Amino acid sequence: MHQSENIVIVGGGPVGMVLSLLLAKKNIASTLLEARKQGAANQDTRALALSFGTRKILEKLGIWQALAPHATAINTIHVSQKGSMGRSVLHAHDYNQEALGYVLSYGALCAALNAEVMQFPMIQFIDEAQAEAITHSATCATVRYNRHGELSQLESALAVLADGGRSLEEVPGLKRDTKEYGHDALITKVRAELPHNNIAYERFTANGPMALLPNGERDFSLVWTGKKELIAPLLSVSDTEFLTQFHAQFGDRVGRFLSVEKRMTFPLKLSQLQEGDTPHLVVIGNAAQTMHPVAGQGFNVGLRDAEVLARHIADTAIELGGQAMLAAYRANRKTDTKNGLLFTDFLVNIFSNDILGISALRSAGLGLFDLVKPVKRHLVSKMSFGK
Ligand SMILES: Cc1cc2nc3c(=O)[nH]c(=O)nc-3n(C[C@H](O)[C@H](O)[C@H](O)COP(=O)(O)OP(=O)(O)OC[C@H]3O[C@@H](n4cnc5c(N)ncnc54)[C@H](O)[C@@H]3O)c2cc1C
Repeated sequence: MHQSENIVIVGGGPVGMVLSLLLAKKNIASTLLEARKQGAANQDTRALALSFGTRKILEKLGIWQALAPHATAINTIHVSQKGSMGRSVLHAHDYNQEALGYVLSYGALCAALNAEVMQFPMIQFIDEAQAEAITHSATCATVRYNRHGELSQLESALAVLADGGRSLEEVPGLKRDTKEYGHDALITKVRAELPHNNIAYERFTANGPMALLPNGERDFSLVWTGKKELIAPLLSVSDTEFLTQFHAQFGDRVGRFLSVEKRMTFPLKLSQLQEGDTPHLVVIGNAAQTMHPVAGQGFNVGLRDAEVLARHIADTAIELGGQAMLAAYRANRKTDTKNGLLFTDFLVNIFSNDILGISALRSAGLGLFDLVKPVKRHLVSKMSFGK
């Protein structure tokens, strides 16, 4: 048993690492428990959509400079619907922003964060440490973990669960509402005949939305979502057949598609924490809320969790990990999280509905939305900063 003075963070993914860095910058020590070997995620090519607000957080941490060469700016977002003329276009320059967002690989982000974490002796990074249970009492939280077959435990006034929501389901007091969409997301990279010109495309079809994000000089990252039975076969068709089918759904905006990289799928769900009683434990990032990737909100909401939590932890006027602190943090995050979940769920439902008449309404809606500047401004602010 080891009594820790530190804040214990379970999960050294991007959200957990950002929290430890934000704390270190405020002179607060933390212990990061990460199941994988440190650096194991550095080769992960999954593309994350970063909002402009996320860039600001990474700038504050001083790592944006190292990331900028690996990030592709989104200067324009083009939203359209298959089978209709309605469309909407958002330009960064209309909102006095350098970019509407950025596309960055998960691996490049983790590599930069890992390197930065190593610079701070007050961050203790314990890799290959699989947390197996978290319990809490009136005075502390206890995290039990397994490292190379040896069991250890840490006690802390505050444990933070940032495990991506995929491992520790059985924490007392922790309950999630989960809605399975029955949809999968297929992710891959494609190259098109025409350059991307830093335009991201959101395309809604009756089967589900797809996003084509500029990534690197010539490539696009594709997120193609739809019913499992329609998406699963796309893994086994030939590259040529895949590109033909994709072209038929996406249309001609960037010409023909020339090549596709390795394809993978994952199931889509919407998941959020219920109000629960978990003294001395707080949950952030994907572990706290999982969203459909349609609007690229999930990771950004998770990073804002870390930013807000770091501020609450640094507030010495309030007991660390006590009821008052946890209640204040949850109240602070409630609206942003709820809006992110509602917004993405709304988009999925309204655009994936094939009821007669709704399609025409959507089309008119996109056209009208394109004309109403304050509504667009609100949307850009929401997507960029969560406000
Ligand atoms: C397969 C997949 C594909 C995705 N693709 C996209 C995409 O294309 N675009 C997009 O914007 N978003 C995508 N997402 C979502 C995106 O990855 C998340 O929003 C983001 O990673 C959240 O960061 P996080 O730090 O909260 O969680 P994670 O990135 O999941 O990090 C959690 C960390 O905790 C560690 N961990 C887990 N359990 C334990 C344990 N018991 N003990 C110790 N450590 C533990 C893990 O090893 C991991 O390092 C995808 C998610 C998945 C699962």
